[in-house]
Amino acid sequence: MGTRLDSRETQVLEVLDRLYEEYPDTTISLNFSNRLELLIAVMLSAQCTDERVNKETEHLFEKYETVEDYADADVDELSEDIGSITYHNSKADYVVSSARTIRDEHGGEVPDTMDELTELKGVGRKTANVVLQHGHDIVEGIVVDTHVQRLSRRLGITEETAPEKIETDLMPLVPEDDWQQLTHLFISHGRATCTARNPDCAECVLEGICPSSKLDGDVDLASGEAWS
Ligand code: SF4
Repeated sequence: MGTRLDSRETQVLEVLDRLYEEYPDTTISLNFSNRLELLIAVMLSAQCTDERVNKETEHLFEKYETVEDYADADVDELSEDIGSITYHNSKADYVVSSARTIRDEHGGEVPDTMDELTELKGVGRKTANVVLQHGHDIVEGIVVDTHVQRLSRRLGITEETAPEKIETDLMPLVPEDDWQQLTHLFISHGRATCTARNPDCAECVLEGICPSSKLDGDVDLASGEAWS
């Protein structure tokens, strides 16, 4: 029986409690060993799986090591180097362009402010938030990816649909100390149980408080449509 708790605040706190218990060690799943690699891995991960990105960056990070290596790279060659990644042509262009900006305007260092990061070509608020959190230990917001978007709607925590609006909606509800971990917890649960197409509600630790539960609900609140 899935029923949302009385307020969105209590709902989100209970969801976090249960997910902390379920995934105590969850963290970012992209591989990187410095801020530049982090930025590039996150840029490449847009609409692509972290698994695929990790496979490609394994050889990419051996071939290109410094900001200069990327800034001087041939876009077509770089695009081939990351050929199995979605939108690799545009992403190669973004990476080379961003590396040039970092080299020419930031002394070769990956910037540590939201404004400077989002001025890099192809870097939006989500990418910038991840780089700030995992590269600079600065938590300015909540990273809203496809899993956070889907789960926060399914669980009746938000009715917003656009990632940036969901972020603005969640920030006052979630204790600041949990902003970073919320993303990883939702991603872990979204991958393991609450998948997009076939969530395993019967085995879900959130079932009792989930208004979308397939066990007794007809509608997937993430899409607003009836479960098929
Ligand atoms: S798996 Fe089912 S019960 Fe669990 S959060 Fe997703 S929709 Fe709700």
